[in-house]
Amino acid sequence: MLPGAMSAEADPGGPRDDRPRSIPALHLLAAIVESSDDAIISKNRDGIIQTWNAAAERMFGIAAADAVGRHISIIIPHDRLAEEQAIMSKLLAGQRIEHFETVRRRADGSSISVSLTISPIKDDTGRIVAASKIARDISVRLEAVARERELLTELEHANRRKDEFLATLSHELRTPLAAIRNAEAVLNAALGEPDLARPALATMNRQIAQMTRLLDDLLDVSRITHDSLQLRQSRVDLAAVLGHAVDTVRPIFDQSGLRLSVELPDKPVYVLADSARLAQVFGNLLTNAAKYTPDGGRVVVAAERDGDDVTVSVTDTGIGIPPEMLGRVFELFTQVEGPYEREQGGLGIGLSLVKRLVEMHGGSVTAQSEGRGKGSRFVVRLPVLPGEAVTPQPSQSVGGGVSAVSRRILVVDDEPDSALTLAMLLQLRGHHADVAHDGAEALRQADAVEPDVVLLDIGLPGMDGYEVCRRLRERPRGRSMFIVALTGWGQEEDRRRTREAGFDLHLVKPVDPEELLRVLATTSS
Ligand code: ADP
Repeated sequence: MLPGAMSAEADPGGPRDDRPRSIPALHLLAAIVESSDDAIISKNRDGIIQTWNAAAERMFGIAAADAVGRHISIIIPHDRLAEEQAIMSKLLAGQRIEHFETVRRRADGSSISVSLTISPIKDDTGRIVAASKIARDISVRLEAVARERELLTELEHANRRKDEFLATLSHELRTPLAAIRNAEAVLNAALGEPDLARPALATMNRQIAQMTRLLDDLLDVSRITHDSLQLRQSRVDLAAVLGHAVDTVRPIFDQSGLRLSVELPDKPVYVLADSARLAQVFGNLLTNAAKYTPDGGRVVVAAERDGDDVTVSVTDTGIGIPPEMLGRVFELFTQVEGPYEREQGGLGIGLSLVKRLVEMHGGSVTAQSEGRGKGSRFVVRLPVLPGEAVTPQPSQSVGGGVSAVSRRILVVDDEPDSALTLAMLLQLRGHHADVAHDGAEALRQADAVEPDVVLLDIGLPGMDGYEVCRRLRERPRGRSMFIVALTGWGQEEDRRRTREAGFDLHLVKPVDPEELLRVLATTSS
């Protein structure tokens, strides 16, 4: 509404005229002002509000009747009152102010970002008598600009971390590869000299385990990113989980002369957990403690009941963490030292896995440190389950003793080196092994040699492993074969597909040869 607004009516007594009548200019102007989305206000030389349109009512939450006659400072924040004086002086000097971005105040005290365009209004003599003010709400635009800036910073940050990660990844993969290559050269030179060959083999073994661990971590990160990591939870004894984690890191501690002690509560504590994943959590924390603690240091694992929870702290006397990094070390690819200053290996993903896995168990993890050189403590908090533990079922693949039964095995892999070395290993362990390099050859060989076990790669030229498996199962002899998928793909979806195609077991490459031999020893076909 425009109080005092100009209105004009057609004279009812005037001559009849059927032509469309033009709308009087003032009336039109008033309607335009009233329907504008921008607040349009006029004020006199003293800053007293003269008109106040509907958009101004909406924008500032003040009715026209309450605004007209009051000073314009009702919409100016106290700390910006000086701004108004500057505006007035410019206006009185006949200048127009365009797109001046500032903040104004609503009736409820909240702020609103506006762009102001203010023009002087002159009377017939050219004297400035008032000012018109158009205020446009720009909060949405400013928020969008701020969000855009934020996203850009985040993006740059993520991009930098990705580059650092790639540099770290290639470094981490090169290190074990270099050792394997050296060991291979030693083996070649030492053919027929077992004393030289043995340490080279041990090196290869360690470095392959290291690369496998790196790849497992990468796979876990990808599962976590895609929310496809699944827990197999049961009631487990926390002491058993910690014992398992300690066993896996014991060699690292022995090698570096670090002392490791474990303090457990008097009574057993049970948690609802995937014991392998929880052991991975403590294994990661312990590996870090060992990595970031100089030789001769000490690491303590302490589990304590705390109400309905249990806390497990891993405390070391190592290099510590600067305060500003304490919250960030759990972020993916974050490492306190940059890729080129770091002495220790790693991809900067261990702690983000720890955090995610602990959260998936309904718990939390925090990092504490007094700063550089002052040691670190990681505390995992988990909810405790009342009652007794259920003895975990032995897993399908590793149960049972190793029998000496010789099997006829068909190895199907299009990578000749993989197929050949696996067949050689099987032969060395007393099995009979044949090799095929594609699906069609696999089916021909299977018909000819009737294997007990087929170790079948999935990605094969022509006919893939799923199809080979389905066709084998259609054969009378194929129904009783033990068919194992040996593949680089290990996601839940991949496992479902191999199950549906009729595989008995899904193993992810690189398969630990000893585990494979144990599996073969327990198959009954
Ligand atoms: P990384 O593979 O680099 O060890 P993590 O995600 O496990 O990756 O750890 C991230 C970073 O946190 C490490 O690079 C290291 O800077 C720091 N950190 C982790 N554990 C410790 C610890 N016990 N003492 C000191 N710093 C640690």
